[in-house]
Amino acid sequence: MTAGGDLLERLCGPLVRGLALLVLALFALPASATTLDVDRDFCHATSRTALADDGLANLRFSCTGTPAGYQQGSLWLRTPLDNFRAGRNDAALMIHHSRFDRLAVAFSYADGETRWQQVRAGDYGSHWRAGGQILFEAPDRAVPLTAVTMRFDGLSSHQFVRARLVSQAAAGMQSAGMAAAVGAALMLLLVSCIYSMSLAFAVRRQYLAWQAAWSATMLLWGGVWSQMHLALLPGMAGTLSAQISTFLACLAIALATISAVMAVDRGAVPERLRMFALAFGIGVGLVGIPLAFIRSGSLGPLADILGMVVIADLVIVVVCLGWAWRHGSIEARDFLAAWGLPMAMLAFIHVVDVEDGFWGGGSKLLIFVAATWQALWLAAAATRRLAHLRIERDHARDAEAQARQLARRDPLTGLPNRRGFVESVTPLLARARADNLPAALLLVDIDRFKSINDVYGHDAGDTVLCGIAHRIERWEGPMCTVARLGGEEFGLLTIGMEGIILSRFAESVRRGIAACDHREILGDRSVTASVGVAEVRPACDFQQLYRLADEALYDAKRGGRDKVVVQRHYDMAGLPQGREVARSN
Ligand code: GH3
Ligand code: MG
Ligand code: MG
Repeated sequence: MTAGGDLLERLCGPLVRGLALLVLALFALPASATTLDVDRDFCHATSRTALADDGLANLRFSCTGTPAGYQQGSLWLRTPLDNFRAGRNDAALMIHHSRFDRLAVAFSYADGETRWQQVRAGDYGSHWRAGGQILFEAPDRAVPLTAVTMRFDGLSSHQFVRARLVSQAAAGMQSAGMAAAVGAALMLLLVSCIYSMSLAFAVRRQYLAWQAAWSATMLLWGGVWSQMHLALLPGMAGTLSAQISTFLACLAIALATISAVMAVDRGAVPERLRMFALAFGIGVGLVGIPLAFIRSGSLGPLADILGMVVIADLVIVVVCLGWAWRHGSIEARDFLAAWGLPMAMLAFIHVVDVEDGFWGGGSKLLIFVAATWQALWLAAAATRRLAHLRIERDHARDAEAQARQLARRDPLTGLPNRRGFVESVTPLLARARADNLPAALLLVDIDRFKSINDVYGHDAGDTVLCGIAHRIERWEGPMCTVARLGGEEFGLLTIGMEGIILSRFAESVRRGIAACDHREILGDRSVTASVGVAEVRPACDFQQLYRLADEALYDAKRGGRDKVVVQRHYDMAGLPQGREVARSN
């Protein structure tokens, strides 16, 4: 595990514990709420919408059975307040927003007076609260409250009506807590969305773009579900928001499916399974479109079917990811870990009814928190993978640099080889030419080396070569670059040396090589070298210089070996012209 990975894991541990504590805290703090169940706690009546609110007094409520036939008219739900901290008037009614045209709430008092408050689709006034709830506070009167009545006009489904009676102080605290939690989750989703999008551009991976699109959709869904958007767009209150929210939820599932399926390598999952998972996910997204258009009518059965479809989609994605994981896909492992919490949440809310928990945030808040977790995990996993990639890239670069270095060195003597020599002297020659400095190449070839191999063996020849290379290496410096050019031939390039100084230097090289001690291998046999020197001004390219030095070396060999032959080639005014040969020894 890398240092980056360790750090990530150290950070993730507290994050998981923090999230778990937050969820537990929200769950454990129903804060003196009385949850009202429509079928159990309310008496109901229906009427035409034309009936005025004060018609309440003449309505006949039924306290048994299930309300029906109210979609085109009004549904009245009434509950006595005997159970709610009798005698206290600081009651607040928190209702989960749903699909309706208008909602009016009546607080009835012991003196027969009734006070009405209302909201309508497109106008929740100051009653909306973050977390998807609408708040009605009982007017502060000296007379005890006796009953609360809700009147819904054009309600789509009474099953979705969730109401809680809390004290006004608790309502304020819960609303503030909910706004902070939702705000934090929205902010995290926004950050992870921007981060995934930047990563998608930086590393050009398609699934990261889908992941960013998913985070963006969850961000929008969270904003709309929790009603945070009403701060900016109050006209969207009510049914329109509920419709958009349904569509966004389906779209988010489609995008999450696509990003998960796209993340696994093509070879890691059978193509048919991949295609099926993709098609199923896109199908869920498409189902959201007709569902969003339903303005009224009962949504209950459709919601149940959608719930099953979503679970099926998750199972298909998990099968897909599990398959890829077993076939070595790291992305699949990360995605499985990321999807674990949302999956567990979905299973949990289908088994346990949490709609009234979490300060009224219910299952949607759980899903929202899980999605935020998922987005963060995916972003962290992508970062970890990138860190690994970077380390691998650094290793590859090091290895490449090492290989390049080796390709420029002679393995036997450790001196630069011909390729390395040409690479390093080419810029030196160019600079010497620009500065009009003399340049010279000394070609050193060991005399009768073949016979050393023949008499003493190839290994002895190698040792002799190494000894001479070791001696030649000592001439390496700011003015001289050395190399083994091949076989028993060495090269020394000098810049700035000319005339007698250069000749003396070449002579010292010849002598230095001849003075090398090979007694251990060759006994009394001495080893000499011939030196061909090409001296030019202005400097020419390496090929030309080598040709001139080779000619001089040939002359040195022909002249009896163990000699220095200098070939001068000047063409500047005031300096020796043409070719001049100097011999030493
Ligand atoms: P001359 O004085 O004309 O240069 O004679 P020479 O024998 O040195 O030249 P020739 O070109 O005939 O032979 C060069 C020999 O160098 C032949 C080859 O086997 C030997 N040689 C080349 N590279 C190596 C090497 O890496 N190790 C050993 N031991 N011998 C090598
Ligand atoms: Mg040779
Ligand atoms: Mg030789």
